[in-house]
Amino acid sequence: MNPRIGSVTEITGRFEVANTAFSMAAARTKDARFCDHAWIATQRRDSCVEAALRNNLQQEMLTRTVHHKEQLMPVDTKAATDRLMRFLAVEGITGQEAAIGRELSAALTEVGVPAGAIRLDDANTRIPVPTETGNLIVDLPGRGALHNQPRIMFMTHMDTVPLCAGARPKLSGRKVVNEAKTALGGDNRTGCGVLVTLAAELAKQKLDHPPITLLFCVREESGLYGARHVNTDELGSPVMAFNYDGGSASNVIIGAVGADRWTVEIFGRASHAGVAPERGISSTMILALALAEVKAGGWFGKVVKGKRQGTSNVGPVTGGEGRPAGDATNVVTDYVHVRGESRSHDGKFFKEITKAYKAAFEKAARKVTNAQGKSGRVKFKAETDYFPFRMKDNLPVVKRAIEAVSAVGGTPNVRAANGGLDANWMVRHGVPTVTFGAGQNEAHTIDEWINLDEYERGCALALQLATMR
Ligand SMILES: [Zn+2]
Repeated sequence: MNPRIGSVTEITGRFEVANTAFSMAAARTKDARFCDHAWIATQRRDSCVEAALRNNLQQEMLTRTVHHKEQLMPVDTKAATDRLMRFLAVEGITGQEAAIGRELSAALTEVGVPAGAIRLDDANTRIPVPTETGNLIVDLPGRGALHNQPRIMFMTHMDTVPLCAGARPKLSGRKVVNEAKTALGGDNRTGCGVLVTLAAELAKQKLDHPPITLLFCVREESGLYGARHVNTDELGSPVMAFNYDGGSASNVIIGAVGADRWTVEIFGRASHAGVAPERGISSTMILALALAEVKAGGWFGKVVKGKRQGTSNVGPVTGGEGRPAGDATNVVTDYVHVRGESRSHDGKFFKEITKAYKAAFEKAARKVTNAQGKSGRVKFKAETDYFPFRMKDNLPVVKRAIEAVSAVGGTPNVRAANGGLDANWMVRHGVPTVTFGAGQNEAHTIDEWINLDEYERGCALALQLATMR
């Protein structure tokens, strides 16, 4: 066993007896021994030692009820939970964020952020789908010894999925659950709670911190639009950002997939299926042949080609907006509309997957002909939804994230996400961004609930990230 880890165990062991508030954190610090992620083990071990020493210091400080700059700053968890319940009670499905924007502004002014430091941008004028309001941007000037350090940013999204409409959040022990048969909205009111709690605690405890931008994005759930269309000039040039959107506060997400969304229109020819089927060209048959080809080529679902990996899916198959594909059993179907997607962590590979679909549809259209020798036709359109990213683990933002997670007693789990995040766009805009969770569970389903332990950890983590040197 590494002697340094041994010393951590020894030190943490003492807190467990001494201070219940830190016992959980210390236990998790010990768990670091069993970590199998070799590539972050060194940082983690160092951070663990540091965290343990800091906890030790904190313990001594608490006994003497003296405050010290290096100690972990406690968070008013009652106020943080009240805030979360307050934000959960405000409906704000994607595209309809005006009310939650007002609630967040009110909550921020109540904790001492001047009204002049809070504004909405005009991203909604650039978002191609109707959006009530812009992103909410808050400027917190630096304070104390860190006031002239480079600016950092904390971000989250303020919309929820449409399934959250009508949610009735209820506290139940260390969980927030839902009394209605809807999704709850922990995705992403937990992030909103963390950011406002950060502003509240920085002000209340008069903590030293660098200049901070808070960004609450609109329309994350419907296409990462708020983050995509934010005007980066308005963010005050942060050197790094921390995004809150997920479950575990120990997850350090440093990369995410990229994705294409594609649509294909399949044009055939209608004819009476009983009287003159040979005159028709079936769009449905073109679809079937194309998908068979995609499947046989290994391009459907989980796609693995040598070292390259990705995923793809075929989504809605319709006859256009609100119509079924095909009009009747006795009519050869002359039009089918299909939507699908391709994803990969490899910036080129998801486009290759999309290309395989395009080629298969075109080939299938040529194959389905009528008695006159005419074939079907397809119109295939693809658009990149967001670009993949993967940050190097020696970037300052990643190091700070790992160190902070350890410092609040977590075991950093450095990983990449298989879904798109607002961070995809922020990184594309030139701001390296790490994403954490803050207690979301079973998001986007009617079983959604919030883990208050993780939420509180998320709040403590934000405070740590904002105040560490
Ligand atoms: Zn989310």
